[in-house]
Amino acid sequence: MRTEIPDATLATDRGNRANAILRTCVHCGMCNATCPTYQVRGDELDGPRGRIYLIKGLLESGEANAVARTHLDRCLTCRACETTCPSGVRYGELAEIGREVLEEQRPSRSLLRLLLLGIVPKPGLLAPLVAMARPFRRLLPRRLRRLLEPPPRHRPLPARGRVLLMQGCVQRVVTPEVNAHLAGLLQARDMAPFVSDAEECCGGLALHAGRTAAARSIMRRNVAQLPVDDVDVIISTASGCGVTLKDYRRVLGDEAATRFADKVRDVAEALAGFDFQKNAVHGREVGTVAWHPPCTLQHGQRVTGLVEKILTSTGYQLVPVADQHLCCGSAGSYSLLQPDMATELKERKTAALTRHNPDVIATANIGCQTHLADAVGVPVVHWLELLR
Ligand code: SF4
Ligand code: SF4
Repeated sequence: MRTEIPDATLATDRGNRANAILRTCVHCGMCNATCPTYQVRGDELDGPRGRIYLIKGLLESGEANAVARTHLDRCLTCRACETTCPSGVRYGELAEIGREVLEEQRPSRSLLRLLLLGIVPKPGLLAPLVAMARPFRRLLPRRLRRLLEPPPRHRPLPARGRVLLMQGCVQRVVTPEVNAHLAGLLQARDMAPFVSDAEECCGGLALHAGRTAAARSIMRRNVAQLPVDDVDVIISTASGCGVTLKDYRRVLGDEAATRFADKVRDVAEALAGFDFQKNAVHGREVGTVAWHPPCTLQHGQRVTGLVEKILTSTGYQLVPVADQHLCCGSAGSYSLLQPDMATELKERKTAALTRHNPDVIATANIGCQTHLADAVGVPVVHWLELLR
């Protein structure tokens, strides 16, 4: 793709990166075929190719506009387009730059977005708010209700060992039992997980909202404060956090961030090679599982096939699920900020997941889990809960 970005913009790090990415796009449009928002709306500007042109326009003109804001806000950042693209266009990084420019020139005025950015990354604030709202959860919209279900009692995580377990802002408040369950699985395999009070949000929420400077500060604090040199591996049970933690090298670009990112593994990568037994879910034996790979796992981290392998070798039968590459509509705060599109995508996803009547639906990210949980009549669990 030809670009005419002004020299002053090209002289900046982001201008230079954006230009290099734009030039790899051959505008073939193949990415549109796997873009969930393009499938729903059929509008070129709601597909990756159209959004790439909008970002190109932003950088060439230096002026943010409402059209770009609308269509970039509607993008899920699921990165299915990256997996499809034959030219290797790094759409996720380009969208991040586009959002950064928009946020500088036309900052979002959404009160909900500001609230989410202010509260969700701070478990110290989120946990008491969730506890206060829990008694009133039946009065709230369905999409919020699952977030407020009281978690089952769990054992506290041990504070020792060489596996740093990142608890995640939402994960630790809404389904802390998943982290506790992982700790048990690791301990039974001679690994000793521990958590750190110094853990902050991974920075993903700010990064995807175009607040790159804020995201970088959070990331730098994590790199500086967490005991990276004392551990062999850093694991997150939420693939949405994991994809951002692995990205610290690209976003921060220094040696300490590289050392940090090199140690991050998705939990499937950490557990591959071990044997497990089946675990009952809500006291019931499970035979068939519909697996929903989060976009952050399959397109972001490019971890594919591992969970399936672990589950089948544990004795589960995975039912076929159509269009597994498509986002369920959760996408971080997207389901709250773009409820219509999120609901449409959820309905399509739940139809595909329940078609063969599975005993459970399993996924790997707290966002997908809570988003899907209120829409289907079968339990939606983190896949780790299926292992014993
Ligand atoms: S598939 Fe890749 S090269 Fe083709 S239009 Fe999409 S981003 Fe550009
Ligand atoms: S990230 Fe997802 S929603 Fe956004 S353009 Fe790519 S495929 Fe479409």
